[in-house]
Amino acid sequence: MRRLRNVKIVATLGPASETYETIRALHEAGADTFRLNMSHGTHEEIKEKHKIIRQVEEDLSSPIAILADLQGPKLRVGVFANDEGEDLVEGEKFRLDLDDTAGDINRVNLPHPEIFEALKPGAHLLVNDGKIRLRVEDCGKDFADCIVVTGGRISNRKGVNVPDVVLPLAALSVKDKKDLEFVAELGVDWLALSFVQRPADVLEARELVRGRASVLSKIEKPTAVENFDEILEVSDGIMVARGDLGVELPVQNVPPIQKRLVRKCRRAAKPVIVATQMLESMIESPMPTRAEVSDVATAIYEGADAIMLSAESAAGDYPIEAVTTMNNVAVEVESDQTYREVIEASRTSKGEEVADAIVAAAREIAETTEVSAICCFSQSGTTALKVARERPRVPIIAMTSRLNTGRRLALTWGTTCVITPELDRFKSCVVASVGAAKRLEMATDKDQVVVTAGLPFNMPGTTNIVRVAPCDERLILATEPE
Ligand code: PGA
Ligand code: MN
Repeated sequence: MRRLRNVKIVATLGPASETYETIRALHEAGADTFRLNMSHGTHEEIKEKHKIIRQVEEDLSSPIAILADLQGPKLRVGVFANDEGEDLVEGEKFRLDLDDTAGDINRVNLPHPEIFEALKPGAHLLVNDGKIRLRVEDCGKDFADCIVVTGGRISNRKGVNVPDVVLPLAALSVKDKKDLEFVAELGVDWLALSFVQRPADVLEARELVRGRASVLSKIEKPTAVENFDEILEVSDGIMVARGDLGVELPVQNVPPIQKRLVRKCRRAAKPVIVATQMLESMIESPMPTRAEVSDVATAIYEGADAIMLSAESAAGDYPIEAVTTMNNVAVEVESDQTYREVIEASRTSKGEEVADAIVAAAREIAETTEVSAICCFSQSGTTALKVARERPRVPIIAMTSRLNTGRRLALTWGTTCVITPELDRFKSCVVASVGAAKRLEMATDKDQVVVTAGLPFNMPGTTNIVRVAPCDERLILATEPE
């Protein structure tokens, strides 16, 4: 589907968005990728949503990416005798232990023996999205005696973050492994890993995925920020997961980290999603706050590949309005002269392969002459990612015979995918490119486009041709060499 913006939109599906009508309307309003959150819902429900997305994709002939988000090693306390929970008071003592009997005002179960092994006096535990802060005073193999630093209500199965400690946790829980196999077999395009701490966590998942999906690392732990370069190296994409990141680190650290990560991902030609609380107030209101609009705009000015909706589209009252808002902000920001200046000023030096030189040339041609689009033939998607890294002024059309490649690129800045048959003549590549540009209403007979391709054909990683071609087929047929 043709979009009038470059940044992509990811919409999380949930109870507010599970019917065919809503999912189709979300895609038409601007959602390019749908996120299935494995923390919620049964496999049956995931399968049902997956089927609907594929139906919408077929009905609208427009590749859609599906991103399955694994829960990861999320820590939770046990349950309390009082269903309402307890109010912890600053300065009082509170104990966490391995005893699975119901908790009270003095203690509660924390059913994770590995945590007690790793804790040290002085470490902080954050409960319920960081609202409650506990400091460890004394600890052993099966307990941690804490002082309440910031009080508040603690109740059944609230989440626990341990920012100061590298947790000796397996990156993938038993549930994650089952979920991973299930979604990989079902056929998703992206697999997101929560609470990644080290590159080895990503490698472990890659081994299990066996190429059935691209792997995206969610950066939401201080250790992931420290190990970011190595994590990026082994990942296909990144999510700046600001929700947990803002709990594990002081919130004011999140914006500079976001900026740094977005830049590094662009340099590596790997898609990056900025996520969480982008339009939070739209869960309950049809209008966003001015600050939220500004936050969405900031991510776009920074050059993020994609921006994401969580509860806004999954559980809110205004899922379609939230997507429409993101779309409208993107269209406006990207038509601003400052946007172009910022994007061009932050272009990094190109890589050293032939393909890097070809895509840079394509971008320069688009800057100096009148061309309507850059059409790049890309089997694995790598060339399209490189073109996107250039952030050209004209639309990018990724031409591929692989549906999987087309779907995965639905997360990449500025790229519209067109599925073509396997072509074995350069002339047919030009004809297909021009046809696609005109069908997408990006060009008319009077225009010209840039085409990049590789000889020999249909071999990944061979981009070595750049051609400026007229859009009038009669001219192509008369003048184009075979
Ligand atoms: P989550 O991840 O929504 O799965 O928690 C995103 C975040 O933490 O920002
Ligand atoms: Mn998270």
